[in-house]
Amino acid sequence: MEPRLDSRSVGRSDGMLRLPSFRYLQPTTLSEALRMKSDAGPEGTYVAGGTDLYPNMKRRQQEPKTVISLMGVPELKATERRNDGTVGTVLSAGLTLSELSVLPSFRRRYPAVVQAATLVSTPLLRNMGTLGGNLCLDTRCNYYDQTYEWRKAIDFCMKKDGHICWVAPSSPRCWAVTSSDLAPVMVALGAQYLLAGAAGERVVPAARFYHNDGINYLTKQPDEVLVEVRLPPLAAPGAWDAVYHKLRRRGSFDFPVLGVAAWVRWEGEGGGDRVADARVVLGGVASWPQEIPEVATALRGSTLAPEAIAAAADAAYRPAKPMDNTDFDLSWRKQMTRVYVTRALTELAHRRNTTT
Ligand SMILES: Cc1cc2nc3c(=O)[nH]c(=O)nc-3n(C[C@H](O)[C@H](O)[C@H](O)COP(=O)(O)OP(=O)(O)OC[C@H]3O[C@@H](n4cnc5c(N)ncnc54)[C@H](O)[C@@H]3O)c2cc1C
Ligand code: SF4
Repeated sequence: MEPRLDSRSVGRSDGMLRLPSFRYLQPTTLSEALRMKSDAGPEGTYVAGGTDLYPNMKRRQQEPKTVISLMGVPELKATERRNDGTVGTVLSAGLTLSELSVLPSFRRRYPAVVQAATLVSTPLLRNMGTLGGNLCLDTRCNYYDQTYEWRKAIDFCMKKDGHICWVAPSSPRCWAVTSSDLAPVMVALGAQYLLAGAAGERVVPAARFYHNDGINYLTKQPDEVLVEVRLPPLAAPGAWDAVYHKLRRRGSFDFPVLGVAAWVRWEGEGGGDRVADARVVLGGVASWPQEIPEVATALRGSTLAPEAIAAAADAAYRPAKPMDNTDFDLSWRKQMTRVYVTRALTELAHRRNTTT
């Protein structure tokens, strides 16, 4: 007798997972996309490259009945505009990560963004995955990024289909972690996002786009589309600088279990020797890109000498509280915060010393 599969069974004996059936729509303008989302209601969702959404749908972590592709929307199409006013460079959300990495002159002007984009997964995924999809990436957890059968065997969890958090069973919230490589960089740089929704357009600072909640991890409304990312201008060469460092098991493939984005603005017009301001933002340790304000306090007025870097790394280590829901031992990951913040700030100090 054939084994009976209930309607939600997704696995085959060879381990392949199948997409459920859904309606696929291809709007050709932004207003058409917004109208389609409004018609589809909560059961509709946007897709760009699909490298996050489709695997999630195969595992029934997300079950939209209507999927609205943003890839044919001209307002999101692959462009980089330079603007020397208050906004430095404007990046369309539809740029693929590969396109982002090879934009003319962009590598030289925003190396931290390029660094983060080229550290995402593999070339194949970077050819499909977009900037917008990366910045809206679902949060991750070892108890959630599993097949439907696996999750069913543990009676699911709060993030989807269940009631309990297996990472912190007495917790009223989900602790799934932000795993985007670009999100901490955008927060560190002070980028701004242009959103378009049924209620019109609005611009939000990257830092306010994220919530520290594994389920409601974005502050955007479900109907809102991320249209573009506005990067701050390079006021003068050397006035500010930023780097991104990533910890993961396999250098060629994996999501970050720790990401460190570090940004420094130097004193004076053309960039002096001392730090006027700094931001260190951690990925992979909380449900949002976590800024550590104590680092700025430790660095302001310093020359980024080793003692100041050690004080800043210590300041970042204390509030970093990774949970036991991604790769590697929890306490080792916390120790690595100090190491990776030291490396990132040392690289910035080195770059400063070699350009002056
Ligand atoms: C094996 C594997 C390894 C990976 N490794 C990494 C990694 O190391 N680092 C990393 O950061 N990511 C990684 N990813 C995740 C993913 O590939 C990238 O983050 C990619 O950039 C996502 O972009 P996308 O266009 O494919 O997103 P999609 O899957 O199309 O969308 C992701 C989410 O964003 C929403 N969305 C997309 N675009 C918009 C928009 N413009 N406005 C509003 N909402 C939008 C979608 O509705 C969906 O909820 C990995 C994925 C896989 C499968
Ligand atoms: S942190 Fe808890 S609720 Fe969130 S996905 Fe993991 S197990 Fe589920």
